[in-house]
Amino acid sequence: MRLEDKVALITGASSGIGKESALLFAKEGAKIVAVDVNDPEGEQTVSEIKAAGGDAIYAHADVSSAADSEAMVESAEDQFGKLNVMFNNAGIMDSRDDNALVTEEDVWDLTMAINLKGVFLGCKYGIAAMQRAGGGSIINTASFVGLMGAATPQVAYTASKGGVIALTRELSVIHARENIRVNALCPGPLRTELLMKFLDTEAKKQKRLVHIPMGRFGEAKEMAQSALFLASDESSYTTGTEFVVDGGITSAYVTPE
Ligand code: NAD
Repeated sequence: MRLEDKVALITGASSGIGKESALLFAKEGAKIVAVDVNDPEGEQTVSEIKAAGGDAIYAHADVSSAADSEAMVESAEDQFGKLNVMFNNAGIMDSRDDNALVTEEDVWDLTMAINLKGVFLGCKYGIAAMQRAGGGSIINTASFVGLMGAATPQVAYTASKGGVIALTRELSVIHARENIRVNALCPGPLRTELLMKFLDTEAKKQKRLVHIPMGRFGEAKEMAQSALFLASDESSYTTGTEFVVDGGITSAYVTPE
């Protein structure tokens, strides 16, 4: 198994990428701390892991809170004795997020608090635990939008993901000699609730699909498979990357018909 004897904490584990990663990491032998603010769905993730013969606990934490972030890392160490993998994946996309002229300050602040400060706090407490464990792998979910611009804007979301990429790069350099690797996962557009709520008409979906060379949205499972590589020792020489998994969208100038 690819994550045997490892303890993995995953935020946003109630849904989408986080849930699929929790199920896959558990199947590969990791003990899972599933973190979210959606308690019933988080408990459901844990039940599914246990039903499949895995080991997991649910920890309620709002990643934008320092106290909650510290406590979620403590639950991993209390329950399983250590932390080896930290997947800072929880994130939001506010439907009111738009261009700079119309986006309200509260949308900016909330998006930054969850998407960027949340990742910072996860790293802050996660890195300390990994130093105690003798090393580890951190995966921070960014996005392809942190790498390129769009005329259909979500400025707060895009800026938060650019921040995640820069934060990841710097942390990877600081901690490289401590056996702690830090990578940013940059998904392309996915067929998860987060994006489908935003692209809520067929016309909006088609407008996005036209830019993806593969001509389809990605699946949360495909992100989980990539995160598994970054979490495992198979990626032992990989740190500080913008790990792009996007159906080719960031490579495209013109896409096939
Ligand atoms: P999702 O909405 O299915 O899952 C996100 C999870 O995060 C939810 O379970 C939600 O309850 C949880 N969450 C929200 N705020 C939280 C908070 N303050 N504390 C703890 N948990 C919180 O979305 P997803 O598509 O699986 O997104 C996961 C990550 O992938 C996000 O960071 C998102 O920005 C990123 N991403 C998604 C896409 C896409 O197209 N869906 C593309 C690129 C990047």
